[in-house]
Formats: sequence, C-alpha cells, structure tokens
Amino acid sequence: MTLIRLHQVQKRFANVEALQALSLTLEPGEVLGLFGHNGAGKTTTMKLILGLEKPTQGIVEVFGQSPWQRHFSTLRHQIGFLPESVSFYPQLTGREVLHYFARLKKVDTRQADGLLERIGLTHAVNRKVKTYSKGMRQRLGLAQALLSQPKLLLLDEPTVGLDPIATQEFYGMVDELRDQGCGVILCSHVLPGVEKHINRAAILGQGRLRALGSLAELRAQANLPMTIRVTSALARSTLQQQLADLEMSTETMRPINGHTLEWESSPGNKMRILRRLAQQPELDDINIQEPSLESLYRHFVEQPTEVRS
Ligand code: ATP
Repeated sequence: MTLIRLHQVQKRFANVEALQALSLTLEPGEVLGLFGHNGAGKTTTMKLILGLEKPTQGIVEVFGQSPWQRHFSTLRHQIGFLPESVSFYPQLTGREVLHYFARLKKVDTRQADGLLERIGLTHAVNRKVKTYSKGMRQRLGLAQALLSQPKLLLLDEPTVGLDPIATQEFYGMVDELRDQGCGVILCSHVLPGVEKHINRAAILGQGRLRALGSLAELRAQANLPMTIRVTSALARSTLQQQLADLEMSTETMRPINGHTLEWESSPGNKMRILRRLAQQPELDDINIQEPSLESLYRHFVEQPTEVRS
C-alpha cells in the first residue's frame, strides 16, 4: 500500500503560500529525500503528513487515510518522527527516557531495551541524558522514533551536528530500516553523503516542487555536464596534445597540478570518452564525476520551471 499520497496540495498561512500544487508519493521500502532552502515548505509538508496541519486545498493521505481526522490516531502509532531539535529531560537516564516514551506509545519496555542495544547505546543507558553527546542524543531520538516499529519514518535534519562516522552509522540504520520495508522521508540541508541513501529526491523551491525523481532521472532531466579528470606522468603540454589528438575539447581544460587535467563534457559523451581514454597507455588515472546531488539541487532550485502534476 502507498504510504503517503499528496495530490495538488496547497497550504496557506494567513497571506503566506507555504505549499502550492504539491504532489508526491512514498512507497514502502523507499527513502525520499526532501530538500529545499529555508522556508521552502519542508516542515509544512512534514506537519501535513503528521496530521498537525490540514491542507488548504488538495489531498493528503497517509496509509490511505486523512491524517488530521480523529480515527487516524490508531494509525499514528505506525509513524516514527525524529524532529530537528530533539531534546529530552536531562536528568533522566537514556533507559528512563526510552521507557517513558514506550509507556506513552503503549509499547513493551523490553522492546525499548532491545532498541537501545540496536542503536549502540547499551554502554550509556544508565547515564543521565545531560551527559550525552549530540550524536548519542540523536541516536536516542531515533530509538524513540523506532519504538512502535513504524512503517513510516519522518526524519527532520537527522544528521545536523553529527560527526562523519556518526552520520555514516546513522544512515546505516536508515538503510536497514528501508531494507525491512519501512518508508522514510528524510529532510536535510546537508546534501553531501545523502545521495547513496535515498531512492528519490523531491526538491522544493518557494513551496513548489521543482524536481522529483531518482538521481539518474534528475541527472537526465538536468543534463548538467560531467567532470573528467586525467592524470599522467607526461608533461602537461604533451598530455594536452595527446588529448587534443583524441578529439577532446582541450580549450576548456584546466590544470589541477603538473600532471592532472580536468574539463567538463556533455553526459551523452561518457562512454565515447571513456573508450578513447582507456586506449591511452600513458594515462595513470581517469576519473569521471557525474553531477552531485548538490549541483542538481542548485540547478533545480535556481531554474524557474516546476514539476507539473
Ligand atoms: P527551514 O529549512 O527553515 O526549516 P522549511 O522548508 O521547513 O524551512 P516551512 O517551515 O515549511 O519551511 O515554512 C514555509 C513557509 O511557510 C515559510 O515562509 C514560513 O514562514 C511559513 N510558515 C510556516 N508555518 C507558518 C505558520 N504557522 N504561520 C505563518 N507562516 C508559516
């Protein structure tokens, strides 16, 4: 069953159009990255999904139901939410915090203990939360969101303040949940490193959907150039001449250091260029960099077009 369906959703606050004509879906076992500048409408989208706000117009369905209606409360237990600034009562220990949430969610406290182990906090369960690092608090926040074994998980800026290792571990847990069939919406301003953990990206700009699709689809749509970098022990001028002989566009090449050159080329040329470069015995290294999520994001946010639905 489709977990989330937004169709032509509009949300207006007084005279602010927070969202306009937003349509998107989320399926089980899918991670959707929701990206946008400050004020783009990400939090409003989350609030509509949680049933904390009602759309001004359009359809919002979560598990096939309207989330702001009273009878939705039983389904709400199947949603896990990790807010951006997670805070807990500092005098409680990690175990006490999670047991408290377990009671609120009517979940067996033994499950809470199992989760503390799963998120790697076993060693600190009896320490007061005020002694926890930001990463430990974020793990506790994730454990709280996972308590009722959610089918849908909403993560708002989950890795802000986490170090690179903690971020990787966090995304490792998200990957596991996705593989178990959980649907995840991941809001983030921190784009580097996110791309391999999402199935699709939704890019919002001023309340409108600017792009929606897998990275491959967004790359095809944006048609941004790829960056090619080659390294050789040859002198730079000799290398440049060899590349010119291979019909590479040498006029756009930039020297990176004495033995490395870099240039941009159309994505459609990738295989042709690779074949030609691979035949050059003097090349020590070839690197082709496709447009990153960050450059796709910039492209779609800056261009005035939007996704029609
Ligand atoms: P950020 O990245 O800064 O958290 P966001 O993408 O989450 O931004 P939203 O919080 O959804 O953006 O806000 C979208 C727009 O709606 C903004 O212009 C915001 O000021 C406005 N807005 C949000 N909530 C309200 C409200 N309760 N009353 C009035 N305006 C609101």
